Amino acid sequence: MVIALDIKELVKYPFLKESEQLVRKQFESLDRFLAGPRGGEALKHAEERVLDALAGKKEFRDDEAHQVSPEIEIASYALARMLVSCNGDRMLIDRLTRFEARRALHFLEAEEPEKKQYIAQSVGLDIGRGTIPVSGYVELVAQLRDSRWRLINRDVRAGIVTLDTDERDELLRERIRVVLTRQLPLKVPKSLCEQFAPITAGITAAYQQQILEQFGAVEENAFPPCIGSLIAAITAGTNLPHMGRFAVTAFLHTIGLSPTEIVGMFQRAPDFDVGKTMYQVEHISGRSGTEYTPPSCATMRTFGLCVNREKLCERVSHPLSYYRIKKNDKKKQP
Ligand code: SF4
Repeated sequence: MVIALDIKELVKYPFLKESEQLVRKQFESLDRFLAGPRGGEALKHAEERVLDALAGKKEFRDDEAHQVSPEIEIASYALARMLVSCNGDRMLIDRLTRFEARRALHFLEAEEPEKKQYIAQSVGLDIGRGTIPVSGYVELVAQLRDSRWRLINRDVRAGIVTLDTDERDELLRERIRVVLTRQLPLKVPKSLCEQFAPITAGITAAYQQQILEQFGAVEENAFPPCIGSLIAAITAGTNLPHMGRFAVTAFLHTIGLSPTEIVGMFQRAPDFDVGKTMYQVEHISGRSGTEYTPPSCATMRTFGLCVNREKLCERVSHPLSYYRIKKNDKKKQP
C-alpha cells in the first residue's frame, strides 16, 4: 500500500524525508530565506520550539502544527535543530529531540494504523503486529530505565517480545528520539551560528533561569547515613560505582535539588566531566519522562550501600522515609 502524506500532514512529522525534501527547496538559498520576512517568522517559531522543549512541554493541541503556514512550520523544525547545534549543549539537544518525539507521538496516536506503521517504518521500526524480536527490543529499550522494560519482566516467546498498544507508542516515541538524537549536532557554518547568537544567548539564559527556579529548601542534617556516606565519599574524591551515583542522584533529585546542585556535588569525583555528569543527572531526574526514585533499603543493602545504620534505620524500609521522619522530628524540636 502506497502512503502519501500531504503538506498538512508533513508538518506533524517534520523529520520524515518528504518533509526534509520540502525544506531543502525552501533553503535553496538559506541566506536569502533568512533575510526575508518568512525566514524571520520561521526563526522566531524555531526559537519558540526550543523554548517549549526546554520547558518540557508535554501537552499538545491538535491544531498545534497549524499555527503558522506548513512551510514555516517545517522550516522552524530545521532551524530549531540548527539553533541547538550552534549552542552545542548536549542537554539542549536532548531536550529538543525528546520534545520532537513527544510532539510526533501526539499526532501519531490519532493516525490510521497504516499511516502510523508507515511513519514507524520510516524511522526503522516495525512493531505493527505488536511484537518485536528480542535483539531489536533490547537495542530499543537500552536507555529506558523503568524496570518494566527489562527483558526479565517481559512476555518473551520464541525470541519474540509482545507489546501492548501503549507500549508500542512509547517505543515508537523512543525510536524517534534516538533517530533524531543521532542526527545532532548538525555542522552549522560558523557565520550562521554568529547570526543566530542573539537567539542562542536567549535560550541559554532561559535554561539557566529554569535551573535556578528549581532550588528548594533541603535539610542536609536529615540525610540518612547511607546517603551521607555516599556524599562524603564523593566530596573526598572517591570514584563511586554506578549504583552509588545513581542512588545519591535519585535521592537528591527527589528531595528537591536541581540538576546543577547535584552536579556540583560530583565536581570532586576523579573522573568528573561536567557535560557527561549533567547529562546523567538530568536523565535520572526525569528528563526522559520517567523519574527514577532512589533505591529502597533492601536494594541499597544488596549493593553494599547500606552503611552506618542508625536507630531510625530499624523503622524504615526506604532512605526517603528516613529523611521525611528525621526532617519532621527536627521541625518539632524547640
Ligand atoms: S537502613 Fe536504609 S536508610 Fe538506613 S542506612 Fe541502610 S539504606 Fe540507608
